[in-house]
Amino acid sequence: WRSYANTLSCAASHVDETHAHITGGSFFPYVVGGKRAPHTVTIAVPRGARVATGLDPHVKRNTWGAIDYDTFIDAPIEVGKFRQETFTVAGVPHHIVVHEYGHEEQNLPRLVDDTKRFVRFFRRMFGGFPFDEYWFMLHAHPTLCRGGALEHLNSTHLTLTSYLDDPDPLRYDWLLSVMSHEYFHAWNVKRMRPLGLGPFDYTKETHTPGLWIAEGLTEYYCLYSLRQAGAWTRQQFLDWLAYFVDRYHDMPGRRVMTLRESSFNTWTKATWSPRREHAGNALNAFVDYYTKGALVGWLIDLMIRAETNGRHTLDEVMVAMFRAHGDAELGFDEEAFERTAAEVTGVSLRTFLRSALDGTGKLPFKRVCKTIGLELTYGAATPKEEKRTFRRKILGTLGLEVAVDGRVKVRNVEPDSAAEEAGLDRGDELIAVDGERLGTDNWRRLLGEGEPGTTKAVALFRHGRLQTRPVTLRADGRRKTRIALAKGLTGARKRWLEGWLGPESKERAVPSARP
Ligand SMILES: [Zn+2]
Ligand SMILES: [Zn+2]
Repeated sequence: WRSYANTLSCAASHVDETHAHITGGSFFPYVVGGKRAPHTVTIAVPRGARVATGLDPHVKRNTWGAIDYDTFIDAPIEVGKFRQETFTVAGVPHHIVVHEYGHEEQNLPRLVDDTKRFVRFFRRMFGGFPFDEYWFMLHAHPTLCRGGALEHLNSTHLTLTSYLDDPDPLRYDWLLSVMSHEYFHAWNVKRMRPLGLGPFDYTKETHTPGLWIAEGLTEYYCLYSLRQAGAWTRQQFLDWLAYFVDRYHDMPGRRVMTLRESSFNTWTKATWSPRREHAGNALNAFVDYYTKGALVGWLIDLMIRAETNGRHTLDEVMVAMFRAHGDAELGFDEEAFERTAAEVTGVSLRTFLRSALDGTGKLPFKRVCKTIGLELTYGAATPKEEKRTFRRKILGTLGLEVAVDGRVKVRNVEPDSAAEEAGLDRGDELIAVDGERLGTDNWRRLLGEGEPGTTKAVALFRHGRLQTRPVTLRADGRRKTRIALAKGLTGARKRWLEGWLGPESKERAVPSARP
């Protein structure tokens, strides 16, 4: 057979003069009726190149294999002259494999140290590792890589769209969170998993409403683990959670789609990502189960701690779920999480979960934060906050999101907004406001600033034709979330909060970047 291998993404394969990166599912066909047989691959390794893979080494030279097809394709293979850093925790080797593009040296020692930290944290949490060896494989290049990362049985492949030593410290924090996210999947998804997520019938679609557990809770744990492990300071952790709240509020689709629906439909409509040009109305029609799922996980953790006087945590629920379902060939049913939480902690999550999973109403951030001694407030973003790396370019007075790259283009128009009323549309290239030319530095002021009721004449190109539309500003409903520790905490609440936040003594000196 012949396989296509010219896409460097976590779901595809890529072969060029520098390496061969093979993602089994995109590369190796299977023999119908033969999936249960052992599979091996023999590689003609070029001189000077090495092989990194989570597959078992075979007695035959340059050969690796697995007990069956499913296991065989669940370990990507990197062949090339990569850099490899190895550390061992409790006797289990962990390898970080980096394809070097001439930029990676600076952040690597810190990445190894931070990775070691969250590896130790998860080992403490689960009381051991579910594998004998683990491989992190990294490709980080702004144009070559397609973005994303994928979990495997004892490895993960990350294809990130910035260099590992990107000067923006937030990009490093993001990379670290992705590493931790994929690593946690070795427990949550690769072993314990919602029904349907394996073993797979590759000829059929796989719908599941359970991605809020599989991806959402994993997303919460990647943030939480970095704080618990001391890789992040307390304030960094709180800032990331605040950023997630903003990300959720900036998603108009949260008003029309539930968390379960989002999960179920992702198989056919994995289009919520604002990066995707084919996304159409995805931003207005979809809610992202990573973001909302992480926030639901966070609220559950706080509720359990507050309702049990700090005696129980979400960690225990996850560990109990893993013990009960981690070795099973089959996944867990939808009720298992709620049931396990009730058994382990005595807390009933029923009412909360019904509205969080099946409703489109607001999540009770403020109320739940208060119970544990956190102060969550909403306010207008400062100009500095508006410019932060991951903050989307949304004008709250218009309900309009733009992409600014020399030109100013409309990326999204929110339903029932001033921009919609004015007839602005996705893809419009905005040229001028009241006769003044729009540019990289003045778009926010020219387009979005002014008292509610102010009307501006916006000139734009649509399908190559110039037109002008009057746009009337509304009150700015967009907010910036801030989370801080409540003042003057004492006694029990202080203790619960500190348990959740992790010891301050573990904080390391890190650049104070805020998402
Ligand atoms: Zn490579
Ligand atoms: Zn994931």
